[in-house]
Amino acid sequence: MSYLVFARKWRPQSFEEVLSQDHVTVTLRNAIETGRIGHAYLMTGPRGVGKTTTARILAKSLNCENGPTPTPCQVCDSCRQIAAGNHMDVLEIDGASNRGIDQIRDLREKARYATVSGKYKIYIIDEVHMLTKEAFNALLKILEEPPDSVVFIFATTQPRKVPDTILSRCQRFDFRRISVNDMSGYLKREAAKEEIKLDSTALSLVCRSSGGSMRDALSLMDQLVNFSGTEIRGEEVVKLLGIVETELLAVITSNILAGKTAKAIDSVSAALARGYGVDELIDALTVFLRNFLLIVSGASGSLEDVPDSEIELLRSMAPNVPDVAVLNILRIISGAAIQVKRSTLPRVILETAIMTASKLSCVFPISDLPAVAVTIAQNEAEVDPSSGESAVSDNTFAEKMEHVSETGISDNERNESVEQTSGTKSPEEDSEVITQDPGECEYEDKGKSEGERESEEENAISKNGIDEEKEKETSRKIFGLFDAV
Ligand SMILES: [Zn+2]
Repeated sequence: MSYLVFARKWRPQSFEEVLSQDHVTVTLRNAIETGRIGHAYLMTGPRGVGKTTTARILAKSLNCENGPTPTPCQVCDSCRQIAAGNHMDVLEIDGASNRGIDQIRDLREKARYATVSGKYKIYIIDEVHMLTKEAFNALLKILEEPPDSVVFIFATTQPRKVPDTILSRCQRFDFRRISVNDMSGYLKREAAKEEIKLDSTALSLVCRSSGGSMRDALSLMDQLVNFSGTEIRGEEVVKLLGIVETELLAVITSNILAGKTAKAIDSVSAALARGYGVDELIDALTVFLRNFLLIVSGASGSLEDVPDSEIELLRSMAPNVPDVAVLNILRIISGAAIQVKRSTLPRVILETAIMTASKLSCVFPISDLPAVAVTIAQNEAEVDPSSGESAVSDNTFAEKMEHVSETGISDNERNESVEQTSGTKSPEEDSEVITQDPGECEYEDKGKSEGERESEEENAISKNGIDEEKEKETSRKIFGLFDAV
């Protein structure tokens, strides 16, 4: 038996199986049931969301031997021929390669002939926006006086390029991106049928990287099965797609927030040394910061596409971080993302942005890296000697890590202690952290012993929030600094 790619093998065959497009399929089923069948339909929406699949199901519904029916039998000759793409009365035309007037004239001639099956003659024109102006005019002539048994189904990703005269003669259906929930449920079911094991991280990464396009998700599944066989784990998806690991982004962000400029730059170098491109890294960092901002500002309802493990990590970083700090970093990094695409020296742009961000955000204390980020930082030091002054080489950091591993304090326990000790910090201590001059904000430079600094940093995370007046003052400072850049 010949090999079938998943996009073909797992293609929905009935309206019920089409994902995330109930607004389309319910309307079409009702129309078929009540016999109100139009002459022209326009299916619009992003690629890979089921436009041509739905067009084929509609064709089956109309030409099934039991049809027109909203539930085609799938077994009659007609249904099987349409599924296989060789039904005499159902013609699929690629608008991109048949865009001229001659092809449409030819189509117009043939549309006049009676059907072979005695039911409907159905033209499915994909990428219809690619037709030339003359071809559209020829098409318009058929649409103005369509033969009774002819149905046109147009599909396009760019409805704005379709002339209004055509649009006004079509019933239009706008397809949506497939939701992560629908997609992951579907992939899980179909994969299980093929005895393919997908762990939850892999599943979530496949869904997210497909951007709501089932075709993209299924192509990726093909690649993954070729890459790692029938057991697909998150790490393999990361490797195959070159996704920047969340933990790396957490290390960079934490260092920026703590105002540790040198460490922040080192963590960027370490990420680049792993083979990520500057643009990949900066895009990933932008998305990560966006998610972090949502968590910090309490608007986590918009995080439905983000895997639980990442949300957990972001939450562990969030205590004591004001949203204005994250907002400023995000503004700097997303500004750099635009510059990077135009620059011949993208790395310099990235490093400058990281430095600027860490100078500006350092008035807010973040005293510890999340536990998961620690593992990455340690691995980094082991595998990448070139990173030199890496985060781990710093004594304070290394000591802190030892402390963490010795005491075995988990994130949860630490958070509990945060609550217990909240409000223990004196105003004088606060003033050490909140400082006006960005050049002075590294608390390492305060001439304190390492022990003192460490305990101060411990205290910083123990602070359960800056009091209101202080917060306002800090915001003013931050905005002042930001404007000065
Ligand atoms: Zn049938």
